[in-house]
Amino acid sequence: MTCSECRTDIPVGAKVCRGCHAEISYGTPGELLLVSAGAWVGIGFYLNSHFAWSSNISTVVAIGGFVATVLLLAKVFKNDVRFTREKKQNK
Ligand SMILES: [Zn+2]
Repeated sequence: MTCSECRTDIPVGAKVCRGCHAEISYGTPGELLLVSAGAWVGIGFYLNSHFAWSSNISTVVAIGGFVATVLLLAKVFKNDVRFTREKKQNK
C-alpha cells in the first residue's frame, strides 16, 4: 500500500511509515468508540431518569446499543487505513 502523506510504498500491516514516520492505524478509530460509549451511557441515563419503569430496560438498551454500534463501526472501518504524521518534528 502507499502512504497518503509521502507516497512511499509500505508493507500492509506496518505500524509506522518508513518514509515519513507517519503512524498507521487500522480499523475503527478509538475516538469514535469513546464517543459512542459516551453517547450510549447518556442515552441510558436519559431513559433512566425519564422513564422510571425502564431502569432495567435502559441498561439493556445502552449496552445493546453500544455493542451494535461497535459492530457497525467495525464493519464500516474494516478496510480503513489512516496515516497520522506528527507535526513535522522529524527533519
Ligand atoms: Zn509516509
